[in-house]
Amino acid sequence: MINTLSKLGSLLLLLVLFACSPQANEYYIDSKDAFFKVASDLKAGDTLILKDGVYVDFEILLRGNGTENSPITLKAETPGKVILSGQSNLRLAGQYLVASGLVFKNGYTPSSSVIEFRESRGKYAYHSRVSNMVIDNFNNPDKQESDYWVALYGKHNRFNHNHLVGKRNKGVTVAVRLNSEASQENYHRIDHNYFGYRPTFGSNGGETLRIGTSHFSLTDSFTQVENNYFEKTNGEVEIISVKSGSNTIRGNVFYEARGTLTMRHGNGNIIENNVFLGNGIEHTGGIRVINKDQTIRNNYLEGLGGYRFGSGLTVLNGVPNSPINRYHQVDNALIENNSLINVEHIHLGAGSDAERSAVPINSKMAHNLIYNENNQQPFTLFDDMSGIVFEHNDSNVDVPSEISAGFQTIELSLVRAENGLLYPSDTSITSGVSRDLTILNKNDTGVAWYPKTPATVAFDSGKVRQVSADASALLEAIENAGEGDVIEIAPGDIVIPKLAFIDKTLTIKAAQPGQTKIGFERSALFEIRDGGSLKLQGLHITGESSPDSHGNTAIRTKKWGMVNNYRFEMHDSVIENLDVNHSFHFFSTGKGAFADKIMLSNNTFTNVTGDILQLNTESEDLGIYNAEYITLRGNTFTNIDGGIAKIYRGGTDESTFGPLLLVEDNILSDVGLGSRNKDLASFYLHGVQRTHMSGNTFTSSAPLVVEHTVGEPSTTVINNVFNQTQPPKVTELRVKGPHTAELRDNTINE
Ligand code: CA
Repeated sequence: MINTLSKLGSLLLLLVLFACSPQANEYYIDSKDAFFKVASDLKAGDTLILKDGVYVDFEILLRGNGTENSPITLKAETPGKVILSGQSNLRLAGQYLVASGLVFKNGYTPSSSVIEFRESRGKYAYHSRVSNMVIDNFNNPDKQESDYWVALYGKHNRFNHNHLVGKRNKGVTVAVRLNSEASQENYHRIDHNYFGYRPTFGSNGGETLRIGTSHFSLTDSFTQVENNYFEKTNGEVEIISVKSGSNTIRGNVFYEARGTLTMRHGNGNIIENNVFLGNGIEHTGGIRVINKDQTIRNNYLEGLGGYRFGSGLTVLNGVPNSPINRYHQVDNALIENNSLINVEHIHLGAGSDAERSAVPINSKMAHNLIYNENNQQPFTLFDDMSGIVFEHNDSNVDVPSEISAGFQTIELSLVRAENGLLYPSDTSITSGVSRDLTILNKNDTGVAWYPKTPATVAFDSGKVRQVSADASALLEAIENAGEGDVIEIAPGDIVIPKLAFIDKTLTIKAAQPGQTKIGFERSALFEIRDGGSLKLQGLHITGESSPDSHGNTAIRTKKWGMVNNYRFEMHDSVIENLDVNHSFHFFSTGKGAFADKIMLSNNTFTNVTGDILQLNTESEDLGIYNAEYITLRGNTFTNIDGGIAKIYRGGTDESTFGPLLLVEDNILSDVGLGSRNKDLASFYLHGVQRTHMSGNTFTSSAPLVVEHTVGEPSTTVINNVFNQTQPPKVTELRVKGPHTAELRDNTINE
């Protein structure tokens, strides 16, 4: 009772103090004008409450000087019920500012950031806080137009409990800027945020969090990144790019996230108590170590499939006397008490080449636990690792002899503890992470009132809609279908008079395989638009009714404005007579469009005057390519004037995993020999990062042409038959010496 009374007393006192504060006002804002009326003269203690509703084209500047006890506050009447759409953004400038509860969606920022802690150059925010915000797919419609969703400037700012999902245009999701002295040694806190799905961007510039830039990387930032949840933040090889000194990255979870936490530039960073869970997904990575005085301790890494710069653990080779923007030598790194469980790759001295020749020095790896249930040891040593002392590490598999003195090979049985992590059942084993490590709960990040939805809509996850073999019935069904729906067409012949737009995830299939024949009278049959993904099954598509002009395409993406990644699959279908004129392609991509996945399986293609897959729109060599995973399996291609796949990934950076091509068990006859096929190739692959071809039979066809560029591309061509077809041609465009492709067990009868 006394306790309650005293609490009541202090509450009353607070209320009295608040009421007495001379100028403190509470403003209810229901329009942009109402905001602008008061916004220019805000005093400490003032509160602006945005009334629930949708505000269009609202650029908010919260400016003023609050105090520690009387901040200036901007908040939603009801968190989540205030929507900022159109060309909107939020800037903060001054001292002790607080903003919370807004949702940015259905639009994009007209300036360089959606939320930024500055008014303009030199006018920054200090001791300010942004929390409980949502930014959902607030993307510039031009995917290559760069912006930040959040830019931190100034000092002592906090960005916490925000929900950021679906950044698809170029630019880092959250950037800590150190480009003036007023923003260095900033002591910012970035905590309890939910970083949701960020799709593969398809070139450099898709990082989720970056702290600093190479230019200011020898400056300390003292930024804390704590207890954030990174779910499928797949933008590029760097999820977090640390480019400054003395930061702490602690207690974060990386869930099924392709890429790594990279100490790209800057010294003296601490990486601890983080949990990486890859569930075996390709290119899920862990921690990449570069520079001086880095500490990596008590991190838990499980089920990571990444390799090379995206490995579970990568220690990079440096460049002697490195320029500021290249790679500084690893010096005095301490890597201890980490658990690496079913981590496929640990790469030491990675990147070793004529330029990156400075091996790690004065470093130590101790008390780490390595366990791989497939009994494959994960280490690859690319150079002399005598500059790393290995001590008291435990492993269930023998590690390479150069480092084995620092490892004890022991039988390990692991059990999952209450915290969800695997530990040795033998509690006397103390290597690996501490037993009291807690895993951040996803529900403790972001906001409770906004759903953390799955990344993409799966094919065939909606309703099945049956339609007759009638063009207008089909077009109507496509228009009215919902996400994930399946349109099943009755047997019969259809000629479609209009272009069919696909702007959702949709399956179109024949009710009876092969019994629905579709022709089309426009320059294309299906056009995948922004937000669309298409799966075709069991159809018979013909070009007989197509216009008699060159450059028709059965399926294409929209030529411009594809901000969302898409998927295209076709199975068990027959494609024929795309030959009414020359250069009639089966599939072509618009410039800048990006497919997460393209898959063709068990289809028959006959008489095509163009290419099957045109994925080569890049001409500027900026490394902006068109598709990540491309799979062709069990198809038959006969009399195709163009190539089967033309894939171009230019540029020299090493920020992407793809393109990744798999070609298995296909039969090609008379492919690629048309006079307009300038590449003189059945497959023309430039800069593809991984190619695997096996079990294919080429007859009277143009050769496979592979051009290796950066990123140590991997090409394997195994167990194929080349009849009256020249052998594969592989060239290295960036690296001297013989090509690195593996060509074996092929039968070649020129
Ligand atoms: Ca990058």
